[in-house]
Amino acid sequence: MTKWVYSFGDGTADGRADMRNLLGGKGANLAEMSSLGLPVPAGFTITTEVCTAYYDNDRRYPDELAGQVDTALAQIETLVGVKFGDPQNPLLVSVRSGARASMPGMMDTVLNLGLNDETVRGLAAASGDERFAYDSYRRFIQMFGDVVLEVDHHHFEDILELHKEDRGHAMDTDLDADDWRKVIEGFKAKIVEETGEPFPQNPKDQLWAAISAVFGSWMNQRAITYRRLNAIPAAWGTAVNIQAMVFGNMGDDCATGVAFTRDPSTGENIFYGEYLVNAQGEDVVAGIRTPQHLTIQGKNANGSDLPAMEEVMPEVFGQLNDVRLRLEKHYRDIQDIEFTVQRGKLYMLQTRSGKRTAPAALKIAVDFVNEGLITEAEAITRVDPAALDQLLHPTLDPDAPRHILTRGLPASPGAASGKIVFSADAAEKQAAAGEAVILCRIETSPDDIHGMHAAQGILTTRGGMTSHAAVVARGMGRACVAGAGELRIDYKERILRARNEELREGDLITIDGGSGEVMKGEVPTIQPELSGDFGVLMGWADSIRQMRVRTNADTPNDCRTARYFGAEGIGLCRTEHMFFDAERIIAVREMILADNEAERRAALAKILPMQRQDFIEIFEIMEGLPITIRLLDPPLHEFLPHGEAELEEFAEASNAPLELVRSRAGKLSENNPMLGHRGCRLGISYPEIYEMQARAIFEATAAVAKEHGNTVEPEVMIPLVAMKKEIEILKALVDRVAREVMTSEGIEIKYLVGTMIELPRAALLASEIAEEAEFFSFGTNDLTQTTFGLSRDDAGNFLGTYEQRGIIEQDPFISLDHSGVGELVSIAVERGKAQRPDIKLGICGEHGGDPASIDFCQKVGLDYVSCSPYRVPIARLAAAQAALTTQKT
Ligand code: PEP
Ligand code: MG
Repeated sequence: MTKWVYSFGDGTADGRADMRNLLGGKGANLAEMSSLGLPVPAGFTITTEVCTAYYDNDRRYPDELAGQVDTALAQIETLVGVKFGDPQNPLLVSVRSGARASMPGMMDTVLNLGLNDETVRGLAAASGDERFAYDSYRRFIQMFGDVVLEVDHHHFEDILELHKEDRGHAMDTDLDADDWRKVIEGFKAKIVEETGEPFPQNPKDQLWAAISAVFGSWMNQRAITYRRLNAIPAAWGTAVNIQAMVFGNMGDDCATGVAFTRDPSTGENIFYGEYLVNAQGEDVVAGIRTPQHLTIQGKNANGSDLPAMEEVMPEVFGQLNDVRLRLEKHYRDIQDIEFTVQRGKLYMLQTRSGKRTAPAALKIAVDFVNEGLITEAEAITRVDPAALDQLLHPTLDPDAPRHILTRGLPASPGAASGKIVFSADAAEKQAAAGEAVILCRIETSPDDIHGMHAAQGILTTRGGMTSHAAVVARGMGRACVAGAGELRIDYKERILRARNEELREGDLITIDGGSGEVMKGEVPTIQPELSGDFGVLMGWADSIRQMRVRTNADTPNDCRTARYFGAEGIGLCRTEHMFFDAERIIAVREMILADNEAERRAALAKILPMQRQDFIEIFEIMEGLPITIRLLDPPLHEFLPHGEAELEEFAEASNAPLELVRSRAGKLSENNPMLGHRGCRLGISYPEIYEMQARAIFEATAAVAKEHGNTVEPEVMIPLVAMKKEIEILKALVDRVAREVMTSEGIEIKYLVGTMIELPRAALLASEIAEEAEFFSFGTNDLTQTTFGLSRDDAGNFLGTYEQRGIIEQDPFISLDHSGVGELVSIAVERGKAQRPDIKLGICGEHGGDPASIDFCQKVGLDYVSCSPYRVPIARLAAAQAALTTQKT
């Protein structure tokens, strides 16, 4: 018989932490905490397999499930000592979702389940607190009504507000048991009105309806959007956790809270969290009341005058702090925990690995190694390479004037400026139109995810450091200022009101998610300095990785940036970028428009010294590191003026008749530029162009050798080769120029000649091509384009639809298509190596900076990856992770 239900409680559990695929993250960790002997309320988990079976079976449950649930429920009753549905002293349970990957706020929760008109009286008697019992009942009806019966929550809020107005109550806490009884009558009547059925009184019916609602919520729009953004497969399903209720709202010796075992923003080793006295469940996370700090240190650091838990409940705080230390030691990672204190007794409701900012991830990884909790190799796997982007985010220029409107909580680091928008839809729309926007909300909810994703930054006026906005923004790496309580947002008028100022939709603001400042207008930003921890972790990565990391760089500036980030050479220097310089584009155009070889050579002679100077500068900066220089690649018309005005301007500057310029431009224009007269085809048609470039390279090598010693070994790369003959002819040309320069300069130059593999034919005929080529560099941008028959320039128009329809998982121009394009890469590697065992192999397409593609490169045995300067650290770390996973398999 399949085991569909796993129990936990009282120091034992059927499950374990490593069973998260089956039990979901929450269920697996509740089981683990229970086994550790931590105070976890008894409960059970219905597995993710039930969710999958439910959807595969037309929303029907496996036959044995009901029996297993009954048994598990009876076990809770035994452990807690009260019975589900007992009118005298009822067991109440919570019903929560819990997927394999954490999906904050995505799924629905029902608390206090088991209450009805009868058991509420039992709860009142057993707790000795009538008000508490009826408050709990109305919360239950409200949640169950909203989540399970789908009665919109505003109906319940309206009834409550009306009652408060009638009675002249300002706060919920002003309501007594009689008030709640009246409110409950109103709620129940509303449910009949909306659904045609009375509120279910049978606790068992309530339980099954709630279980079905949790499974149902796996397919709600919010969950679907979250899964799409986070690449979580629908087939994973969610588990359902049913657990004995404990109450943080039974009086002033009760509390509920959330915490991180270290500061998730900075990684600092301090206990970091918030709590509320006499509150239940989601009150802290929802940001409805402003939470208080756990520690005195946290309270002081944030200038709060509300007492810390450390002061109010020192004993329980001490226990909680012990749990904190134990969990960190046990899980060997920062934990994000939820707890409740019921009448002075601590209960743990959740633990999971804590989401953290990139700086915190780095600090925690390094600190954990230093504390002896993890190894250097483990530390490498703890930092998401893509998250390093966050470290490279701009911060505000400290010298720039700032007009500070207010200060909120520094919820997620990074500085961002943009136009104010007040809705997620507006954020998405304007971002799609190329605007930078700051999404301003009173608070965010999972419905806002798409807008948060599209925005540069997020500003909320309500909610704490663990509010939805803060947690989600941190995960996404968006700048976020949360809980800027002095600001007022008027959604209807679309106005943001600061103390004595009004800003409207479309006005510019700047937020600093590191300090919490909110500023009017756009404040200039500067690039970050990398911390010492960054260098330490990168050092570990470098000692573990096997592939080298180079950069794609064409300018001295790019080269310097890339070296600062640790690039070990240049994998692609696109020489054509140098041609666009204002000084030389005229000569380039003269060369292109020349009618015969002599004229072309005359123009090329003007370009040669400039190109040589470019190489000298780059060679000096790279100080002997390997440098792959690609000879001219784009079709010539790309360099010609576009449009009549530019044509006229050029004709005048070069003294050429306008008619001639126009007709030459017309002849050169193509409809298929990417497949046309470009790459090595240019070198075949106009050998003098490649000759000039080769000469510039070797003369620069000679010049640098004379000045600094003989260090540069250029790798001359011929683009877009499809046939062996092409590289054969062009390699001979490069070799001849090299010999000429060596003779005239009286110096020996070491160099390589190789090719890019950018065409399927080149990959398939790699063996032949490797007879000539001394290295291959995979130009996976063009290889993707030519393998799929997709244009690099406009495929974006419809690839989004392909992703949404599930035809492709990811844009193949972003992450390498392992099975198709990757297969061609594998073939080329194998055949190239068979022909020339010491052939150098690298990648210089954009995929060289994408972690998943880097993993693939490691598996097929490339020597290096090359990527844009800012992605060099990402590639270093991803290459180390790839080396570790390859070791394991
Ligand atoms: C490529 O095609 O992958 C490549 C690196 O060259 P480019 O992007 O310049 O075409
Ligand atoms: Mg290319």
